[in-house]
Amino acid sequence: MRGLIIGRFQPFHLGHLATIKAALEEVDEIVVLIGSAEQSHTLENPFTAGERFQMILNALDDAGITSCMVIPLRDINRYAVWVSHIESMIPPVDVVYSNNPLTVRLFSEKGYDVRKPPMVQREAYSGTEVRKRILSNESWHDLVPRAVVKIIESVDGADRLRELALDEGSES
Ligand code: ATP
Ligand code: MG
Repeated sequence: MRGLIIGRFQPFHLGHLATIKAALEEVDEIVVLIGSAEQSHTLENPFTAGERFQMILNALDDAGITSCMVIPLRDINRYAVWVSHIESMIPPVDVVYSNNPLTVRLFSEKGYDVRKPPMVQREAYSGTEVRKRILSNESWHDLVPRAVVKIIESVDGADRLRELALDEGSES
């Protein structure tokens, strides 16, 4: 059996990793779909698809997980054909893991087995929280896998976020 996990992974954090590990108790293989792949360099989507791809690959490698394929996918902004768009870009999946209400609805309407994985320490393990802490210079390293810290540091991710915040604040 093959499962599908969708996120923007801005950045990939320990909640995502926990969900992948739990899902691998139920399926043999997982497609990790990087959504909004075309987005980067905004406060909500600071990292490129390539950076997110590397974060996930390295974190899975460190965790000894070999049964995932990582696939970036751009948005098409048409919900009616979103599932077909995904189906055209990934191998067939039997189960979809998501807590996003729209994702749950769209895949359920197509007859998929959609499961809602329990959220792990959601107040801390969330992309929004990690980005907020990076921006405000609070400690964030313990919210993400070690490999993600390394990649964010290697691209000066904290500086990027701070400059994006200044840029957005100075737009006229
Ligand atoms: P953001 O705050 O930027 O939206 P996010 O933490 O919600 O980031 P996404 O990249 O939007 O993460 O991915 C969403 C998916 O990741 C959810 O559908 C959910 O299944 C999973 N997920 C997110 N946070 C957790 C968590 N703390 N525990 C388990 N799964 C999580
Ligand atoms: Mg989210």
